[in-house]
Amino acid sequence: MPGTATSMEIVAAIADLRAAVRAARDGGARIGFVPTMGALHAGHLSLVERSKRDSQCTVMSIFVNPLQFGPREDLARYPRPIEADEKMASEAGVDILFRPDVSEMYPGLRNITVTAGELGSDWEGESRPGHFDGVLTVVAKLFNIVQPDFAVLGRKDLQQAALIQALVRDLDMNISVVLAPIVREADGLAMSSRNRYLDRDERRRALTLSKALGCVRLLFGSGERDAATLEAAGRRVLGSEPEIAVDYFAIVDPSTFRRARHAEAHFAGIVAARLGKTRLIDNVTVGTNDQY
Ligand code: AMP
Repeated sequence: MPGTATSMEIVAAIADLRAAVRAARDGGARIGFVPTMGALHAGHLSLVERSKRDSQCTVMSIFVNPLQFGPREDLARYPRPIEADEKMASEAGVDILFRPDVSEMYPGLRNITVTAGELGSDWEGESRPGHFDGVLTVVAKLFNIVQPDFAVLGRKDLQQAALIQALVRDLDMNISVVLAPIVREADGLAMSSRNRYLDRDERRRALTLSKALGCVRLLFGSGERDAATLEAAGRRVLGSEPEIAVDYFAIVDPSTFRRARHAEAHFAGIVAARLGKTRLIDNVTVGTNDQY
């Protein structure tokens, strides 16, 4: 029954996770996988819903991966509402929740790190040195541990999703990557675990990100194709809130993450900005008919 707690299995050890997945697979289940860092919200739950559409067993991981945080980032204060997460995951219909601790994932000296190539050098890669190497390393480990048929990722982290698609392709992993749309608050703010850091003023100002992207989408819809013009329009919207520190705002080809000169419908407007201590990212496909 939707909304009713099911019997979700919670495991913390890699060996137990493997055994649980093996049992599901032996029972004929197709396995979908939703990797997260927890502090779950409706965006995460939409990925679970997407996974359940195509699988009989959905595995979710919750792991705040230290490798992907820079020394001055929010690793220590990243929210970890364990009980609320368990309840939400269970009610959403997650079958197996994998919640390892850091020593289970990184038990000793590590020799091998997955390194992002050119696709990861700009934007998030430039603003957060080492971030994507940390993401790709933990995702490679999680994919090897869970060995799902497919993984569901959110478009919210578009450059990350492109890199994970490249990881699977370049390392010949037998896993399909499914991208799911961004889930937003009613007013347009992209849902994020980091939104809970925002005070009231910051929350109001945070709307400027989706407004700037919405403006680019509207201009594209009205026929504008010059990427510099689209970028300038988005920046003007962002500039209306001087308290926002913009890390980047650009129109990119989502297959290369190179800055575009002429925008095409599947190209993306991408933005990262800081409000006080909180850093937010968002993006929009410029040719989409969605509201943002
Ligand atoms: P995180 O817990 O932030 O690492 O995110 C885990 C997964 O959820 C990633 O694939 C994200 O892209 C996805 N995600 C986060 N926020 C949203 C959102 N608002 N809509 C859709 N997917 C999201």
